[in-house]
Amino acid sequence: MLDKGGEEETNMGDMINTFKRIAENPLSRLLINLMLHKCRKDNKTRLEAALENYIKDRNCCMECKILSYFLSNIIKTGAKAFGVTEEELKEQMNDPYWLQGLINVLKGIGIFGVRRPFVPGAPFQVVWNITHRCNMNCKHCYETAGTPRKNELDKKEVIEAINILADNGVTSVAFSGGEPSIHPNILDYISHARERGLYVAMATNGYILADEGRCQKFIDAGLQFVQVSIDSLDPNVHDTFRGVKGSWERACKAVKNFSAHDVFVEVAMTVTAENHHQIHGMMELAHHLGADWLMLFNFIPTGRGMENINLDISPARRYRILQDAYYGNFNNDIQVLSTAPQFARVAEELNSCDNQIIPTHFYNPEYTNPDLKQLADFIGGCGAGRFYLSLEPNGDIYPCVFFPHKDELRIGNILEDDFEKLWKNNRILEALRDREKLHGACHTCKSRNICGGCRARAYGYFGDVCAPDPGCINNKNLWHKIKESALAK
Ligand code: SF4
Ligand code: SF4
Repeated sequence: MLDKGGEEETNMGDMINTFKRIAENPLSRLLINLMLHKCRKDNKTRLEAALENYIKDRNCCMECKILSYFLSNIIKTGAKAFGVTEEELKEQMNDPYWLQGLINVLKGIGIFGVRRPFVPGAPFQVVWNITHRCNMNCKHCYETAGTPRKNELDKKEVIEAINILADNGVTSVAFSGGEPSIHPNILDYISHARERGLYVAMATNGYILADEGRCQKFIDAGLQFVQVSIDSLDPNVHDTFRGVKGSWERACKAVKNFSAHDVFVEVAMTVTAENHHQIHGMMELAHHLGADWLMLFNFIPTGRGMENINLDISPARRYRILQDAYYGNFNNDIQVLSTAPQFARVAEELNSCDNQIIPTHFYNPEYTNPDLKQLADFIGGCGAGRFYLSLEPNGDIYPCVFFPHKDELRIGNILEDDFEKLWKNNRILEALRDREKLHGACHTCKSRNICGGCRARAYGYFGDVCAPDPGCINNKNLWHKIKESALAK
């Protein structure tokens, strides 16, 4: 096969393996690990100083210059392996969030090696349930939210925690809840996170953001991404589901308000037995309101959701929905994402010469070179404890926002523990990162590297983070057993 320049016969699969060999070479890892130390002259890590020297020709000390030379070779090999030119890569690196992502990737190679699926040097996104307070009463709420808890972090502590995330190289923080928009200090938290170089997102029910003035305040504070939940095409169904009259209208208005500005807007829909037939209509509605993305959230049996297992959909239904979502990416003007990790497996089956994507929770990268589908192995489906962590209002850390808040799943606390040590050494995170540890069909599945099943669903149904995900057609026998035992109660 010809590469982009059409000059040499290059097999991309071989190239990726070559990159893997170079990056995994003990000397390369040693050099990358050396770069994680601070350069006293630049007051930043040698990795950052070396990258700036490579990208912008920025002057740096002799040690960093030498490291920059080795780093540039690793990056050039990586660029070739993943089908982009060095110039394209350098261009991308001018985006500060992209650059932070690259630093995380290199840091991950230094600490963990080139693993399938890949583990970066810090989570790309931390979803932070900033308060338990909520102005709604949703049936599927994973937080069983309502009134604020007594042990929620105060303003000084939240600022300190934001600094810890930024200092550790986290790329993005997403405020959630409860309802983050009604937290009295939320605007200060958004602006501080922005000042510290984090990409700032917020997940909201949109109720108070139907007001244009309020919406503007969030934009002025620096909000870059907003996710607004809309669960149905029918306002009455949404309002009943959310427990507040008028909430559908207000959520739609919030989407319109933000879409009129330079904010990335996602409509979020939790797919349940009650609304699964509305996916196409929801794509149209989200587009009509001006949103960029429609996110199909997987139903998770946790929090108030555990009392509503009848809302969950069958594996066959989920499979068909993911097929529709796949085609929706090519037939509509919005991107359709899903938190069901089986989406990557469905896409792998449907990817053709014209349409090829690698679905993730945060983006559906399109590609044209079929050999690049190997990238999906590294991205790896479920990102709990790899690409994501979550924070509770009291600063407790969990692998993903959808995990129940049980002691056995608690990773630590953002203010009490060393964040980097937790990321490197925690045994729950290690279990989530190793697909060899999965049980049942998820263990033997040929798609386990690109999917891995939703670990929160597996735990919700079986009390084991390594159990099979009963939402997959490969595990439909388990799903039938769950339904039978629910009916027998
Ligand atoms: S068996 Fe498990 S890993 Fe395989 S596709 Fe299904 S959920 Fe994913
Ligand atoms: S457990 Fe994994 S698949 Fe499930 S929602 Fe969290 S990150 Fe996504």
